Amino acid sequence: MTGWQVPGYTLVRRLGAGASGTVDLAVHDATGTPVAIKYLTGQLHDELFRYAFRDEARLLADIDDPYVCRLYEYVEAPDGAAIVMELVNGVSLRQMLRAQGPTTPESALCVLKGSLAGLAAAHAHGVVHRDYKPENVLVTAEGTSKLADFGIAMPVGADAGGSVTGTPRYMAPEQWTGAPAEPACDIYAATATFFECLTGRPPYDGRDLATLRRQHARAPIPTDPAPRPVRGLLRHGMAKRPADRPQPARVFLAELEETAVGAYGADWEERGLRELARRAALLAALFPFPDGSGGTVSVATTTLGTTAAGEGAGRRSASRRTGRARAALVGGGVVVAMLVGGAGFGYAAMDAPPVPTGAASEATTDLTGSPAPTEATPTPTPTPTPTPGPTATPAPTSVAPPAPTGGTATATPTGSPTPTVDPTPSTATASPSPSTSSAPPPDVTAPTVGRVAASPTTLDPAGCPYGPTASIVTALVQDDRADADDLRVRVRYTIEKQAYERRMDPAGGGRFRGVLADLPRPANTTRIPVTVVATDAAGNTTTGDPTYVTLYSFCTPG
Ligand code: ATP
Ligand code: MG
Repeated sequence: MTGWQVPGYTLVRRLGAGASGTVDLAVHDATGTPVAIKYLTGQLHDELFRYAFRDEARLLADIDDPYVCRLYEYVEAPDGAAIVMELVNGVSLRQMLRAQGPTTPESALCVLKGSLAGLAAAHAHGVVHRDYKPENVLVTAEGTSKLADFGIAMPVGADAGGSVTGTPRYMAPEQWTGAPAEPACDIYAATATFFECLTGRPPYDGRDLATLRRQHARAPIPTDPAPRPVRGLLRHGMAKRPADRPQPARVFLAELEETAVGAYGADWEERGLRELARRAALLAALFPFPDGSGGTVSVATTTLGTTAAGEGAGRRSASRRTGRARAALVGGGVVVAMLVGGAGFGYAAMDAPPVPTGAASEATTDLTGSPAPTEATPTPTPTPTPTPGPTATPAPTSVAPPAPTGGTATATPTGSPTPTVDPTPSTATASPSPSTSSAPPPDVTAPTVGRVAASPTTLDPAGCPYGPTASIVTALVQDDRADADDLRVRVRYTIEKQAYERRMDPAGGGRFRGVLADLPRPANTTRIPVTVVATDAAGNTTTGDPTYVTLYSFCTPG
């Protein structure tokens, strides 16, 4: 991971991290629209993946469906690759299941229904999810759900057929062979997740890949723990042979509807959604906007300007941006209105609400191949761009990217970052003039604390056997006078009113590193604010903006 950030967006805070990358809440500068940005890491960062994902991003950007988390753009630069997507104000189904256990059958059916609808839309566009799992289902305050992270399954190992990608607990038998994932794999994974909603545990409990593989391939479909009326859906959706699964997803949807009405009455969906909304509300502390306000931004609209083809072409070597849905933010001839609030976002086509317009002045490369309008789309509204609603977080403080993380301290770019705060008086350069005999002026400038990151951002309490119980916290800390070794840097956090502090050590390139570990088990799952505090030799102290780590009150089941 590097400190690279997608240009044109201002970071608000880290939302979380998973196998495939880290997810930030950010604001699109031109429009004030909050977005989620996934920075790809690990294998997904490599050239092969990027090459493949480029094409997929074009397809994904065309999917505009209420059950799919919208992809706005895919950006590649020499320092990284990132997916800018719709911000869903809600929690993942994983968080919900962990905190609250199994759902009612009606709620489980609602989740499956939403997922099948989202998958149907994606499959119709030629996109297979490949890594459907409760982590990638986001449940909103209304109880509806959206699928995230299409097309970025992580490799889990090699098999006779090649590398196998996906998440083992949800992988269809044929996916284990390395065969290209087909829509039937998604239907299997969605049904396996349906089982987990109904029972609180995944269908197969193997502890290693070989056992799980065998169970998916040959063990009976475990229908007994599920309510009788929905067992047929489980048998059908998790059929061992892909051809025996109901397809396309719409066919399974019809079967679901019939089963649900027959077993739970015509109002099953209303009850299911209400229950999901109630559960989501109990976890509101974990929402990107916990108060449900979406910051103070009520509406942000983007009227699309034209991206001139020639202009874009000249920039491809520096950074590559893909995605018709970038139309939603900056380019292309569609108007998208995003209503932000407890209710999430709503889209309106071609009919801009009377709100400020963020003109797309930033020239980006739109590789969608969508016909570029020949005339410049008028962006007449002279009204100013709305200011971002969420707590006006300062722009990232480091101008130059910090050295890559991960131990090997690559040389930091030499153009040293200019601190953005506390400009020293114009005469005060770093080295006091040697010609005077007087003592140097007193050090009154506090260190700067840049972006603070924690990884992972969800933790089990101390002593839990499976989930992570320690998180690495990093921050860029700089001072006008003191070397890293002369700075005292601590990470501070509070759990149930008890404050804790741990030392952070220099990690090169101005970065400091500390560990959050041995956290006591809280009574309820808690979002812990984690701050970094830096003090220089003169005692000047700066406390950085917090990042958040979620501490579960349970242990992750094995
Ligand atoms: P994987 O990398 O395999 O997908 P994951 O789904 O557990 O693993 P991430 O996708 O990195 O992890 O997501 C991390 C966190 O960010 C999750 O808690 C999720 O709720 C949140 N998140 C991800 N995408 C969005 C989004 N579009 N809107 C709001 N929150 C999101
Ligand atoms: Mg995910």
